[in-house]
Amino acid sequence: MCGNESATMAERIYAREALKNIYPLIDTHTHFDAPVFDTDRRQQVEQAYSQGVCHLVLVGYLYHYFDRMYDTQDSINELSQSSATKANNQDKCNVTAHIALGLHPFYIEQHTYDHLIQLEQMVIERRPLAIGEIGLDTFTDAMKQPDVFVKQKRFFAAQLDIAVAHRLPVMLHIRKAHAEALAILKAHKYDAHKLGGIAHSFSGGEQEAKAFVKLGFKLGITGQITNPNAKKLRRAIQVAVESHGIECLVIETDCPDMTPIMCQTTDNTDSHNRNVPANLPWVLASLSELLEIPHDKLAKQLWQNSCDALKVDWAYST
Ligand SMILES: [Zn+2]
Repeated sequence: MCGNESATMAERIYAREALKNIYPLIDTHTHFDAPVFDTDRRQQVEQAYSQGVCHLVLVGYLYHYFDRMYDTQDSINELSQSSATKANNQDKCNVTAHIALGLHPFYIEQHTYDHLIQLEQMVIERRPLAIGEIGLDTFTDAMKQPDVFVKQKRFFAAQLDIAVAHRLPVMLHIRKAHAEALAILKAHKYDAHKLGGIAHSFSGGEQEAKAFVKLGFKLGITGQITNPNAKKLRRAIQVAVESHGIECLVIETDCPDMTPIMCQTTDNTDSHNRNVPANLPWVLASLSELLEIPHDKLAKQLWQNSCDALKVDWAYST
């Protein structure tokens, strides 16, 4: 989450003014299948489309939810197909949902080796867009326990091998374990220049940013960037861009988490503070301000970067 700071009404109005133009966007990382969206998912898809979101990726974390992700994908894509026949352009809603399958390091204790076998089977049968989210996470003391960390490393390595074997990009979740993750990526010969890949919700420092980009990964930027106090992150992004160009970035909401600061309210009920795909333009706006690149130019570049990272060729149409 971004922190406790909430934007004042004046700041929110100002920020909304800055977002008058809509640009085509790809939300490269969501958990839009989460139950917190069950009551109004359809409206949220329409809202996202009205804010320019054309594609979103549903990213896996637990084997038990893989079917739920496919169901959510079907419902989003059906909505877009049914709206394609509408005569009135204003009622159109054309958001395409995609799937990444993976076993998240934070939930390592819930994963079994059988889940890994099932995962590969689904990769063969259904060919997802990517493998993710996978990686290492030592954020809590419990995650640092040697036996837990060893299991994380095994599952990370095994899923990298699946990605390499099936020529799929990976979505990395790395928190407080960047050096170890880089070592495993190198040992398993994961070449992001060839396969693509995203270091999702990038949270490291300047050196880590450069190291992931050097391996060919794009850095996934979330609503954290909208927080002026996220100085380390903002600096790391600037440094990565200075040395590797804006080609190294993609954006994401990671909804329902990482709510942009201007969308947070002091009302702490779940439905008010959850993040939604329609908030993605705030990430674009903050990044545009930080890097001093106009919205339109940045949006187009981010679209291309996302396609490069996911090894797809989705048409950009304004
Ligand atoms: Zn995630």
